[in-house]
Amino acid sequence: MTAFFDCSDPASANNCYMIESNYFTDNEDLQLQFDSLISWEPIVQEIEHGFADAAEYKKTSDERLAMAPSSTEEAVEYYRTILEALGEMMGKEVAPRSAEMDRIGLKYENGKVTYPEAQDYCFDELRKAGLMPFAFSRRYGGLSMPVTAQSMALEIAARADASFSLAYGNANVAEIVARYGSEEMIDEWIPKWAAGDISCAMALTEPNYGSDLPNVQTRAVKDEKGTWRITGAKRFITHASGYHKAPCVILTLARTGSPTSGARGLSFFLVESKHVEIAGIERKMGLHCSPTCEVVYDNAPAHLIGEEGLGLLRYSMGMMNSARLVIAAQSLGIAESARFEARKYAHERIQFGKPIEEIPAVRKMLDRMDAESAGMRALLLEASRTIDMYMWRKEHLTKHEGLPEKQAKKDEQVRKWEKLADLFTPLSKYYISEMCVSIAYDAVQIHGGAGFTEDYDVSRIYRDSRITTIYEGTTQLQIVAAIGGVTAGMAQNGFLRSYIEEEMAGFTPSSTLRTLFEMFEANAELYRSIEDSETKARYASEAVESAARFLLGMLMERSLVKTPEDRRPAREQLLDHLHEESIALLSANRARLELATKRAARKSPAAVA
Ligand SMILES: Cc1cc2nc3c(=O)[nH]c(=O)nc-3n(C[C@H](O)[C@H](O)[C@H](O)COP(=O)(O)OP(=O)(O)OC[C@H]3O[C@@H](n4cnc5c(N)ncnc54)[C@H](O)[C@@H]3O)c2cc1C
Repeated sequence: MTAFFDCSDPASANNCYMIESNYFTDNEDLQLQFDSLISWEPIVQEIEHGFADAAEYKKTSDERLAMAPSSTEEAVEYYRTILEALGEMMGKEVAPRSAEMDRIGLKYENGKVTYPEAQDYCFDELRKAGLMPFAFSRRYGGLSMPVTAQSMALEIAARADASFSLAYGNANVAEIVARYGSEEMIDEWIPKWAAGDISCAMALTEPNYGSDLPNVQTRAVKDEKGTWRITGAKRFITHASGYHKAPCVILTLARTGSPTSGARGLSFFLVESKHVEIAGIERKMGLHCSPTCEVVYDNAPAHLIGEEGLGLLRYSMGMMNSARLVIAAQSLGIAESARFEARKYAHERIQFGKPIEEIPAVRKMLDRMDAESAGMRALLLEASRTIDMYMWRKEHLTKHEGLPEKQAKKDEQVRKWEKLADLFTPLSKYYISEMCVSIAYDAVQIHGGAGFTEDYDVSRIYRDSRITTIYEGTTQLQIVAAIGGVTAGMAQNGFLRSYIEEEMAGFTPSSTLRTLFEMFEANAELYRSIEDSETKARYASEAVESAARFLLGMLMERSLVKTPEDRRPAREQLLDHLHEESIALLSANRARLELATKRAARKSPAAVA
């Protein structure tokens, strides 16, 4: 490791505490998921389409396809190699520099952002190792990883450093251009993104429109030569200034319809950062090494992506869905760094003549962290699986078989898994980010007064955790996105009910899980019975939380079947903690929903009459 920061120098305080190890192989639960719990076979079948790339390589020797696997075993070994290399780099190169990068932060001068030297070094190393472009196809220089493996990679990166993980994840957001851009656009830009020669930003938010994206007002008009030109201002745009030495290509949402045309008047554009002004960067509570930029467009030339009018409804939503999962994975990674740091401190800190990890009140917090981290990972990887199970198939049907998107969506497999993905994505973003903040909070608590100082990594981890429930759509907006899937999905022949029945048929559910299912059903039903729309909006979180808690309990119980026998008792213990908490939460939600139902009935016209 190249030292930029001398840990032995007393002047630099402690600040070098982050655990140095391989962040893939040192995580038991992540290893168990990778080795035993994930069913790779169907996922690899979907992404590799009968190993078509490997077959083509045999015929054509096209070098771009040289790494294409020709069996599931080969594919899984390939993912393992990437994750191991990433775990080594993140745990041994990035994590030890995290405190230094946070402390030095960014410098902004005349529209230019400068990064700490340590961050430039880490980024160079990551690029050289070829570990960056996980979401892009190998045809454009990418790694062709399924979403399930991508989520693991993002977790590993965020555990090392939350700001740096955004640099790692962000370029991959440009994958939306590979899905919807023209062939020329794909050929021109995707290989540059994949190589890290340009960085990527997505510019949706404006000073007056954050959650309210359908109303953004940045305008795009065609000039007399037929070039689109954008005028307006965007706020809070991560990496719009470019990253490291790479300039940025900003994916921009702008209005092509009238000011009141709503979501249907919005289109999606590709804009080079040399055509905009970076008017400033935010000073923030956390993410000190991730530039959050104010961007001014003044007649900036732009290229339309896809069709006019689908900017928000199809492209930005598609991009945001990937980005939401990225933030769910980032949240898990941040929570994991909090958990590992808390465990280490609780083991070393002596009070009343013993390590504080032996004190029941501290033990309770540590046990909760262990259980919740396994539960969060189970939920994240299931959300990733639902995407893997429809996205590659849909892409194959539209790109290779030439079906229009509407028709591809009718494919039985695509329909089933896309509905589940549309629910699991906001559900996991909401749930994991909220839990991340809660775990980081407990990690500070376990550190006592030391946790409130900047001498320990946990204060930075806590500061960094706080954004996860806000960006890529706040928790409240994720609840809005998930509630329809919970209520419609739990109807008599609903897709969520069918999925649950199918999954539960694969193992023998415990009586506690059955009770939890009945409680979840009852809460969903109580919620559905509320007629007053304001009361409904107010209590959606109780119904969605009930769904999340039941589902992660079910996923954890399902995993017992595949858990090697010697690991089962430990996993059963995690499950006990999770179930205990879920019973308490679903009971509280039931009490609230019952009161809400009564209150709503008093408001209804029938009650007034
Ligand atoms: C560090 C950072 C990085 C970011 N990066 C990007 C980026 O790269 N690109 C980008 O486009 N944006 C980015 N953002 C913006 C971010 O996505 C928004 O801040 C977020 O979507 C919330 O919008 P807002 O801040 O305007 O809050 P508001 O929309 O004003 O919300 C304020 C509060 O009201 C609640 N609320 C608002 N509407 C509703 C509703 N209908 N139902 C329930 N509750 C509601 C919200 O949940 C929240 O609690 C970033 C922000 C930060 C801080």
